[in-house]
Amino acid sequence: MGKLFIMKHEHVFKDETNRYSRQVQFKPIRENGLEKIKAGRVLVVGCGGIGSISSEILARAGVGYLRLVDRDYLILSDLQCQMLFDENDVREGLPKAIAAKRKLRKFNSTVKTEAHVQDVNRNTIEELTADIDLVMDGTDNFRTHYLINEICVKNKIPWIYGDCSGATGETMTVIPGITPCFQCVFKTDNKAEKSRRSENEGIIAPAVSVIASIQCAEALKILSGNRDNINKVMYSIHLWENEFQVIDVAESRQRRDCPVCDYHQFNYLNGKYGTTYASLIGNNAIQLIPFESSEINLMEAAIELSTHGDPLYNEFVLRLKIDEYEIALFRDGRAIIRGTSDVAIAQDLYANYIEN
Ligand SMILES: [Zn+2]
Repeated sequence: MGKLFIMKHEHVFKDETNRYSRQVQFKPIRENGLEKIKAGRVLVVGCGGIGSISSEILARAGVGYLRLVDRDYLILSDLQCQMLFDENDVREGLPKAIAAKRKLRKFNSTVKTEAHVQDVNRNTIEELTADIDLVMDGTDNFRTHYLINEICVKNKIPWIYGDCSGATGETMTVIPGITPCFQCVFKTDNKAEKSRRSENEGIIAPAVSVIASIQCAEALKILSGNRDNINKVMYSIHLWENEFQVIDVAESRQRRDCPVCDYHQFNYLNGKYGTTYASLIGNNAIQLIPFESSEINLMEAAIELSTHGDPLYNEFVLRLKIDEYEIALFRDGRAIIRGTSDVAIAQDLYANYIEN
């Protein structure tokens, strides 16, 4: 009996220059640009729809280091537009950041990846953006867009805003000190999101793909040393209504009165803005009142929260112990968090257990 050998074609990886030959043929990049891309360190915030596409494109393009952060784990409904993942990832119930890291390694094992399963908030963002050259935004709420904007302006890190909903999407590139920032363009903090988006809009994958692809082109320009080519407008698309808008944002810098760019007021980083108004009650409890109140069904909330403990509830209030804290949730969304006098801890508990 002869032995059976399975050819593995390992030799094709010996000459690594082959991997990027087509990208190097592209004149604005060439060898020099590729070397810069390989030296690039990028943070991908959110590994859902947008982040799943942008991390794949950047890994294939040879970005040397990708830090991936996402607080969520995979469920079946994610597969429709989160291109990096498959049914096995859902079966394993993997956190998105971990599944993304595993998948990216299969596309390009030379790229160094680091996965963080955590929430992006004012307590975590400083460390997540440390030693990073560029931040790719793949988040879906304005609070996080503002937060990313503040840390990037503060530490002069370029970032690329992206947001999708339904068949629509927007993207804009922010080079702190050079282009308008997110706050320059979206001046009205907490009201902005509400006016632009209704909760149950759903999403279609093509909108995500278009926005993520534009963001990646911007990333390659910045990383390869072609900053002159960056997009200085905001793109706004509506794929169902066939609208492709180019919005001039330059005038938003003319008055030079941006709280973030000009006055360095970092209200999200400093905890002044969250999704809730916080106030201290007594010496060891914090009351949080949501900016946008809505009637909460406490029985349904109790069922959902029963995975985290044994919630007690009546028709007025639900109480749940989490470690040394107790969350008391009222029907109007207001909560009292006992066991802390730290607003950030209270807001994080609220964000993790009540908002999600
Ligand atoms: Zn600004």
